[in-house]
Amino acid sequence: MSFSALGLADELVRAVTELGYTTPTPIQQQGIPAVLAGGDLMAGAQTGTGKTAGFVLPILQRLISVPIPEGRGKIRVLVLVPTRELAAQVEESVRDYGKHTRITSLAMFGGVSINPQIYAMRKRVDILVSTPGRLLDHVGQKTVDLSGVETLVLDEADRMLDMGFIRDIRKVLALLPKKRQNLLFSATFSDEIKELADGILTNPALIEVARRNATAELISQKVYTVDRDQKRQLLAHLIKENNWHQVLVFTRTKHGANRLAEQLDKEGITSMAIHGNKSQGARTRALSEFKSGTLQVLVATDIAARGIDISELPHVVNYELPNVPEDYVHRIGRTGRAGSEGEAISLVCVDELKLLADIERKIKREIPAETVPGFAWDPKAKPEPILNGRNGPRQGGGRPGQGNGGRSGQGGRQGQGQGRGSAKPQGQGQSRPAAKPAAAKPHGAKPVASAHAGNKAEPNGNVITPPREVNGNVAPPRQQRGSRNVPALLGGHRSGGRHH
Ligand code: AMP
Repeated sequence: MSFSALGLADELVRAVTELGYTTPTPIQQQGIPAVLAGGDLMAGAQTGTGKTAGFVLPILQRLISVPIPEGRGKIRVLVLVPTRELAAQVEESVRDYGKHTRITSLAMFGGVSINPQIYAMRKRVDILVSTPGRLLDHVGQKTVDLSGVETLVLDEADRMLDMGFIRDIRKVLALLPKKRQNLLFSATFSDEIKELADGILTNPALIEVARRNATAELISQKVYTVDRDQKRQLLAHLIKENNWHQVLVFTRTKHGANRLAEQLDKEGITSMAIHGNKSQGARTRALSEFKSGTLQVLVATDIAARGIDISELPHVVNYELPNVPEDYVHRIGRTGRAGSEGEAISLVCVDELKLLADIERKIKREIPAETVPGFAWDPKAKPEPILNGRNGPRQGGGRPGQGNGGRSGQGGRQGQGQGRGSAKPQGQGQSRPAAKPAAAKPHGAKPVASAHAGNKAEPNGNVITPPREVNGNVAPPRQQRGSRNVPALLGGHRSGGRHH
């Protein structure tokens, strides 16, 4: 199947061809005709599936199929996204895909002066890509007019809810014309999402694409068992020995990310940390240097990494396992994308065996465990509780997780540097032992020498436009989501229509 067979105009086909796309991805094959038909859509798709082109291309097609008004006109398409990075990225895609059309777009987010955006809104903006908070700031200042919106896209709707944007979304919905096309994209579907979808969508077309990560055969996953206090040395050893470049490393806390980046840097491995407490300038710089290949290691927290298209990375390292198994899936999904091979390494100490068992249960497979010579661990060491936000700055009652698109859900969730007190013992006192995790097999663990000298440069070399959103509001603590995977949800839709 080709893009032109999907009914897209020559100028759109030309743009994607110039970007090197030859075949539409599954979400594009299904989504483009559905959006062109004009109805509502509910799609289960994650970043990395090509979902952005899946909605942007048919939206552009619909916009260019009627005469584009001269003069200022009104916003015709509103794309709501959870983070500044995603806003910048989606709007960049709009420009890329629409480069041979006269359609105009704007990314709107906080963390930067509102004035240039106000100025930009004086010209014609056909497609506005915005985070909810900054959009409402503009609404408050009457610098945006949403009365002409024909199509609303909620991109990464699950993340928006996680980050506490539901009230903002509802406020925005109230400002839109009742008659419009609605497209909702989400990777997972909690009851909250289903409720939102029920309230917005009318007879939506339902599309599911395979959860990229759950079946990512191309990702080689491995656990290196290691003592808690040897992790940093092991990481430095692996990076140097194997000559790794473009390594995305995940830590559990912002403070941990800072410290690790500093330490690696001192050892001659160029590293920067990216998380919600970093200034926007620092985040933008870290990202672009990482993408261009001048920065060897980017150390990130889970939330900071979301919505950022750092794709086709050769190496992702879990320096610390996440508390939520689903985050493991998100993390490793950063590698091995779009046909390229990737490697996901987890450095696991005794404290994390319970987390590892949870992850293996989630992905329904055991991750092979090895020890690296010189880094033998003591599997009988006494597990210590994992302190969420150990040594991290206390943020008593203030503004947890500011920065990542605003009403960040970092507060209270996975220990992104919040409050020292939330000690959460892991890997001890479990009613059943850590479910035979691979890492609990020290005797069978195979020593490895310097494995995998993977050394791929990132092929697409995208540069992220400066992301800019901060809204100061405090997100409610993220609940453990009753996320269900998309097929389950869609099954429910098909059979019953309404959600529970
Ligand atoms: P997305 O899921 O929209 O974030 O897209 C993930 C990546 O896939 C982006 O870097 C896109 O440029 C790329 N991409 C999207 N569609 C295609 C396609 N049909 N062929 C090749 N690459 C694509």
